[in-house]
Amino acid sequence: MRTPVPDYLTELIEGCTADADGELASYIPELANVDPAQLAVAVCTPDGTVYAAGDADAQFTIQSISKPFAYALALRDRGLDVVLDHVGVEPSGDAFNEMSVESATGRPRNPMINIGAITTHSLVGNPAIPYEARAAVLIDGLSRFAGRTLDVDEAVLESEYATRYRNVALASMARSNDFIHVEPDEAVWGYTKQCSALVTARDLAVMATTLAGGGKNPLTGEQVVPQWVCRQVLSVMMSCGMYDAAGDWLSQVGIPAKSGVSGGILGALPGQAGIGTFSPRLDRFGNSVRGVQLFERLSGDMGLHIMELPAPSIDAIGARDESEDGRPLIAVQGPVIFSTAELALRRFAEIPDDERDVVIDLRMVTTMNSVGKRMLAEGVRRLKLDGREVELLLPRADFSLT
Ligand code: GLU
Repeated sequence: MRTPVPDYLTELIEGCTADADGELASYIPELANVDPAQLAVAVCTPDGTVYAAGDADAQFTIQSISKPFAYALALRDRGLDVVLDHVGVEPSGDAFNEMSVESATGRPRNPMINIGAITTHSLVGNPAIPYEARAAVLIDGLSRFAGRTLDVDEAVLESEYATRYRNVALASMARSNDFIHVEPDEAVWGYTKQCSALVTARDLAVMATTLAGGGKNPLTGEQVVPQWVCRQVLSVMMSCGMYDAAGDWLSQVGIPAKSGVSGGILGALPGQAGIGTFSPRLDRFGNSVRGVQLFERLSGDMGLHIMELPAPSIDAIGARDESEDGRPLIAVQGPVIFSTAELALRRFAEIPDDERDVVIDLRMVTTMNSVGKRMLAEGVRRLKLDGREVELLLPRADFSLT
């Protein structure tokens, strides 16, 4: 048998091919020269399988889709407090290239608009390194997310840097308010280089899965950034990632995402999948017309909306309630998170007082987050404090509750 997923993606692409709505971005001269008919979708699973259809190996500059990754690298290098001191996390409600700063402090509103992104760029790496070295740290970081060495499109870099004045104005404002500590021209050059990294829809899918999977690249196995960084980045993508269409996107598609003016969209569904699309014609918000369509259909067809919750976890406790030698047995199964651990703890509490020996069987547990583990460990501790003998059945030798 052949898995039907590639056929589904091919159908998805065919369903959008005829739509020629939208305009190419033209404010960066070099971007007006691309073939507007290009169309691609790629989906990467948590274990690194990439399904793709259309022009999934066509290269384009990453543009604003680099912003969440620069934010991730700044968080990695400087920590949450320092980054929050320099860039906020509130949606701006303004266009991406507006002077969107908090009125009281002048702090850029979020890292997904240009003023916040240029500030974020300047926070990556050791503060003392020269600007060319900082740009190299950025390209290296983007490459680690993608799992391959990314090139830079020098023609796009030159073309955008030659018309950089609006971004320099934004950087100058951030510099004068003391949120950027380097020369505006240098910060903008590095940021523009970051935006000129060449990616494919396939790369976007892998980069998204790295974010969606807690920072570990599914192809190389490298832990690119710590897990807490991904939570922060995905949250900001959810509220600020789709230019001014973030509310529409949240309700229609419901996948943390970031789009860019060259026509790419990256979507990262925590724990499930990374998605990349590419189609250069943009709508009035600056999002790819057919990219939005692809995401809407994928999300609807595959039930990928983040608010479309899985069935309640009432099956977290197995049916067997007695061991072979007659001791009370509680078998926990599936993923152990707050809701399933709470149910298990309630079952622990129901064990009759006169039962001294109990068996807790965790052999059918598939995953356990730190909260689930802490809760179960506390339950076992309390059972023992009550004077019971607890036998723990664990799935593997390296698995423990401590
Ligand atoms: N490099 C572009 C700029 O700064 C990125 C914009 C975008 O993709 O939204 O204008």
